[in-house]
Amino acid sequence: MTPDSLRALAKAAGRKNINTEPGIRALYHTDATQIQRFPQAVVRAVDREQVAAVLACCYHHELPLTPRGAGSGFTGGALAARGGVVLDMSSMLGTEVMPDHRLLKTGPGVLIDEIKKAAAVHSLFYPPDPSSAAFATIGGAVAENAGGLRAVKYGVTGDYVLGLEAVLMDGRIIRTGGQTNKSVVGYDLTRLLVGSEGTLAVITSITLKLIPQPEAVSILSAFFPSEQSALQTVGYLHSQPIVPTAMEFLDRRSLDAVRALGKISIPPGAGSLLLLEVDGPPEAVPRQTEELARILEGQGGFALKLAHERSQGEEIWKLRRGVSQAMHQLGSHKLNQDIALPLGSMGAFMEILDEAAAGLGVKIAVFGHVGDGNLHVNIMYNGKDPEETRRSQRAVQEIFAHTLHLGGSVSGEHGVGVKKLAGARLELNENALSMMWRIKDAFDPKGLLNPGKALPLL
Ligand SMILES: Cc1cc2nc3c(=O)[nH]c(=O)nc-3n(C[C@H](O)[C@H](O)[C@H](O)COP(=O)(O)OP(=O)(O)OC[C@H]3O[C@@H](n4cnc5c(N)ncnc54)[C@H](O)[C@@H]3O)c2cc1C
Repeated sequence: MTPDSLRALAKAAGRKNINTEPGIRALYHTDATQIQRFPQAVVRAVDREQVAAVLACCYHHELPLTPRGAGSGFTGGALAARGGVVLDMSSMLGTEVMPDHRLLKTGPGVLIDEIKKAAAVHSLFYPPDPSSAAFATIGGAVAENAGGLRAVKYGVTGDYVLGLEAVLMDGRIIRTGGQTNKSVVGYDLTRLLVGSEGTLAVITSITLKLIPQPEAVSILSAFFPSEQSALQTVGYLHSQPIVPTAMEFLDRRSLDAVRALGKISIPPGAGSLLLLEVDGPPEAVPRQTEELARILEGQGGFALKLAHERSQGEEIWKLRRGVSQAMHQLGSHKLNQDIALPLGSMGAFMEILDEAAAGLGVKIAVFGHVGDGNLHVNIMYNGKDPEETRRSQRAVQEIFAHTLHLGGSVSGEHGVGVKKLAGARLELNENALSMMWRIKDAFDPKGLLNPGKALPLL
């Protein structure tokens, strides 16, 4: 960055909103991947006009720019992969609920949990709930099309985005979609920006659809003797008319990790866990819960737990929420994959995975959203041992190959970022990838917006 471009950037951003001190840049040099990339400058976004001025300035001076929410991404999307400017969107707040329209308008920096709370004041519901909802921004969630626990019944972030305001790399402002549940006018640029990982435009305002709050909720969990017995139960549940809100799974190794943490007791003989949530009208939920309990026990589930209120359910959810942290009981380093599979292929995948893990001599723990085929596959290893590291990286390649062979996807919800470029290259059809590059070129002809992310090279 030349003194000239820095001066111009300070003018566009406002002097008090730009920082080049090493200590401040260090605050933005990593995310949940722990990969390290230092930006040359950090700019705090304050409003649409300032964002437009900052982007136009970067465009003119050919400075790479990376938008950033809370930096909780698992694939390195918010890292300044090619240096330049990190644009911190977390101060762009402001939420307005429009109950008559059942929608909410928000700045991109608002935390997902705050969106939920604002909707709940009007007895309305914003369902998507990535486990990071307490600290991740809605802008980051839209850019990643984040999923989460309740996607089985309610879908993912993108299913609730009605409209966006965004700034293009050259500083022009676009508005997509609107405030209606239906509109078929023009190409659907809203859908294109959702999940584009900050590589096409910087989102400055989001309009979200809300739905009525469910009146009643129940939470159930049951241990199973093996992974296969739990996954067969999942298959059976998918053939039933009840659609649970959430359907989560922990395999034997994940249970070992939780057990080793020593905070939650796991019964002897437990080889996996299923956790279900149902919601709906108060007259239907108890009946559905009973039916699900009957199915779980009938399929070999044991040590069944049941809660009829969200507050009691927290005790059950604790086991699931603690699993990510517990993983480090199995190894100092983690390579976590978030693959998605066709619903009926999860059992086959687990069998192949066991063989691959045994063949390579690596520890792999699997947990996640079995209700929508989205499994978090964690390879735990000692990063100081080069041989173990090499075998673990080999395991990632095998996981990708098996996933794609079964008709799956290398990322169900965490995006591609910098971490999954190799997997994305295997998954994407050559002609489709070429179209994606042409779209990228139309939005960002100089390749300055979040470069090195999301799209593998052709
Ligand atoms: C403990 C933990 C649990 C998690 N659980 C889940 C889960 O259950 N489901 C799930 O899907 N994800 C999960 N995640 C991943 C992550 O939290 C989500 O992807 C989240 O949506 C990222 O939000 P963020 O504000 O941290 O975005 P960041 O990490 O800061 O950025 C993510 C991407 O969005 C882009 N971006 C950010 N703001 C904007 C903007 N205003 N305009 C354009 N682009 C922008 C960035 O450039 C980057 O590419 C989890 C992460 C952690 C650490």
